[in-house]
Amino acid sequence: MHHIHIVGGGLAGSEAAWQLAEAGYRVRLSEMRGGGDATPAHHTDGLAELVCSNSFRSDDADSNAVGLLHQEMRRMGSLIMAQADIHKVPAGSALAVDRDGFSAGVTAALEAHANITIVRERIDALPDGPAIIATGPLTAPALAEGIGAATGSDALAFFDAIAPIVHRDSIDMETAWFQSRWNKGDGHDYINCPMNKDEYLAFHAGLVGGEKTEFKDWEKDTPYFEGCMPIEVMAERGVDTLRYGPMKPVGLDDPRTGRWPYAVVQLRQDNAQGTLWNIVGFQTKLKHAEQVRLFRTIPGLQNAEFARLGGLHRNTFIRSPELLDPTLRLKTRPNIRFAGQITGCEGYIESAAVGMMAGRFAAAELAGEALAPPPVTTALGALLHHITGAAVAETYQPMNVNFGLMPPIEGRTKKADRKRMYTDRARAAFAEWLSPRPPEQPAGADTSR
Ligand code: FAD
Repeated sequence: MHHIHIVGGGLAGSEAAWQLAEAGYRVRLSEMRGGGDATPAHHTDGLAELVCSNSFRSDDADSNAVGLLHQEMRRMGSLIMAQADIHKVPAGSALAVDRDGFSAGVTAALEAHANITIVRERIDALPDGPAIIATGPLTAPALAEGIGAATGSDALAFFDAIAPIVHRDSIDMETAWFQSRWNKGDGHDYINCPMNKDEYLAFHAGLVGGEKTEFKDWEKDTPYFEGCMPIEVMAERGVDTLRYGPMKPVGLDDPRTGRWPYAVVQLRQDNAQGTLWNIVGFQTKLKHAEQVRLFRTIPGLQNAEFARLGGLHRNTFIRSPELLDPTLRLKTRPNIRFAGQITGCEGYIESAAVGMMAGRFAAAELAGEALAPPPVTTALGALLHHITGAAVAETYQPMNVNFGLMPPIEGRTKKADRKRMYTDRARAAFAEWLSPRPPEQPAGADTSR
C-alpha cells in the first residue's frame, strides 16, 4: 500500500515523488502517457518531458531570480536539478539540457527507487486519500471537470489570457498618475498613462500591423476563448473601439492639464507588495519583441521593465490564491495538494519547485510534523507566497519567479546593486530556514544538564 498518490508524472509530479520517496514514504505515481493516453503537446512516454524549449533559463544565482531558484533547489536535493546538471548542454549562462537524456534520467531514477511505483494510468476523479495533483496545463478533461466541481467552475481557467506585467519602479510617475475612474474606491487603485490623439493613432496602427503568434491547431478547439479577446483583435474592429473599451479616458483627469486625455492606458496592482502592475485589458498574441517595442511607446512606460509579457494559450490552472492554504492543500479538501503549473506558476523549473515543496509539505504531514514555508525573501518562498495568497485572486494569471514577488529592498539603493542585494538577502534567509538556530536560552539559564 502506498502512503500517497501522485497524479501526473511531469516536472512537478516527478519531483514531488522523489522528495516523498527520499523521506521514506511509499508513492504511487500515476502517469497517463504510456497507458494509452496522450496530451496535445507531449511526444514521448518519458517522465518529466520538456514539451517545448530545452532551457531552464538563467543559471546565474547572483543576479537572476530563476538562477537563485536553481541554487535553492540544488541545496534541497532536487532530482530535476540533479538530472539537469548531468544532462547539461552548452548554453552560455543559461542551464539547457539534452531533453531526451534528461527525461530518461528522471524516469530511470524514479523507476529504480524502492519507494515508488509508477502506474501508467489515467485518473478521472480526485482521489479520496492523501494525494498530490500535478497534471499540468494539459490536464485530461475528466479530471479537469472533477477539479472544476471541487473548486467551483469559475475558479478553473482553461486559457492564459495574460496582460503584460510591469515592475512598478520602472514606471515614469512624472507622466503617469494614480487615480481611479471618477475617483471611486480610495482613488489610488490605478496608474494611468495618458495619450494624445497622435500617440493613440500611432499606437493603434502598431497594434493592427504588429507581428503576432498563431494559435496551435489544438488550441483553436479549446472553449472559453471569447471571454479574453486579444487587444489587437479589438483594435482591428475599428479605430475607436479601444477608446470606448480598455483605453477609455472618461473620469480620468490628467493632473498636468486638468482634462481627460484622448485615451488612457491603465495599470492595476498585481501583487500585495505593490511592486508589480498589470496593463488592464492588454492580453495579446503580439510577439514578445513587438510588445516591448510598442508598449514602451506608451507615455509613462518608455522605460518599462516587464515581469512578464502578454500571451494567450491553452493552460488549465486553478485560482490558487483563494483555494490553497500556505502548504498547497485545497482548503475544502485538505487531503489534496496541488503542484506544478496547475497551481498557476509558469515554467519548467517553477513547476518542479512547487512540486518539490508539495512533496516536502506532504512528507512533513505524514511524519506528524509541521513544515513552515520558506521565507518570502527566498526564491522558493516568494513563488509559493505568490501562489498561495499574495496574488490578487480575481486577476490571477500564471507567473514566472522574479524579484518583483519578493518584498522590496528597503532604503535608497543603486539600481545596479539591487539584484545582488536580493540574492544575498535570499541566501541568508534560506540558510536560516534550512537549519534554524536553536531557541536562545534565557540569560542565566542552567544548560549543564
Ligand atoms: P506537465 O509537465 O505537463 O506534467 C503533467 C503530467 O500529467 C503529464 O505528463 C500528463 O500526461 C499527465 N496527466 C494529465 N492528466 C492526467 C490524468 N488525468 N491522469 C494521469 N496523468 C495525467 N515552460 C518552460 O519553462 N519553457 C517552455 O518552453 C514551455 N513551453 C510550453 C509549451 C506548451 C505547449 C505548454 C502547454 C507549456 C509550456 N511550458 C513551458 C509551461 C510549463 O513549464 C510546462 O507545461 C511544464 O511541463 C509544467 O509542468 P507540470 O509538471 O506542471 O506539468
